[in-house]
Amino acid sequence: MFKALRCPVSLFLTTGPVVERQWFWGDYLDHALSRLPRPHVDIELVGMRVELTDPERRRRMGRQLRGALKLVPDDERRAVLADLARQAGVDATEAPSAPYRALEPVQVEQLAAEGVQFGAHTVTHPILSRCSAAVARWEITESVRIVGAMTGRPVTTFAYPNGMLHDYGAREVAVLGAIGVPVAVTTSRGRVVDTADRLRLPRLVFRADLGVMSRRVMGYPLSL
Ligand SMILES: [Zn+2]
Repeated sequence: MFKALRCPVSLFLTTGPVVERQWFWGDYLDHALSRLPRPHVDIELVGMRVELTDPERRRRMGRQLRGALKLVPDDERRAVLADLARQAGVDATEAPSAPYRALEPVQVEQLAAEGVQFGAHTVTHPILSRCSAAVARWEITESVRIVGAMTGRPVTTFAYPNGMLHDYGAREVAVLGAIGVPVAVTTSRGRVVDTADRLRLPRLVFRADLGVMSRRVMGYPLSL
């Protein structure tokens, strides 16, 4: 569809799931919760009891827990996940099952050959502002390096995981500037104007309502 409309398209790759067949941690959390043999689990770090009695409640509480884990230091988030996986008897080294699989490198190559532009989106999709400086730098530089190697082109765009104001900061912007990535996108809502900070670009969510979307693209106020 994009090709037929000659519409440029960018995909942002989290390189761990693509290259190493790793799980996205939110998916891994759902997977572990679905395998826990008990009716509830207490997550002391965030003061939450996750009820697992029925699938709907489990999914809802899983989403809440995922949100809570985005707010804690990243190594503590990793420790909670590892502990849940151990309790659930799931193995992080086992590749994700079908609904959770990311693009494969060969698909990335094919899409790149068809004109899709690929940007970087970290290695493991942590919330960068919750990481140490060294980890945040590695997540950015390593994903930029791998996406460049996979597509054979310089990487010119980056997307901050979660992308809200408190999810990244001047530190991440400086790393991108230092390694020569000229453009980065956030999830702050807004249009790009010519005075925009190119390493903190806002975005608009594409909704299925074409009327709303075409008004937005044409420049009507975002509230319409
Ligand atoms: Zn993401």
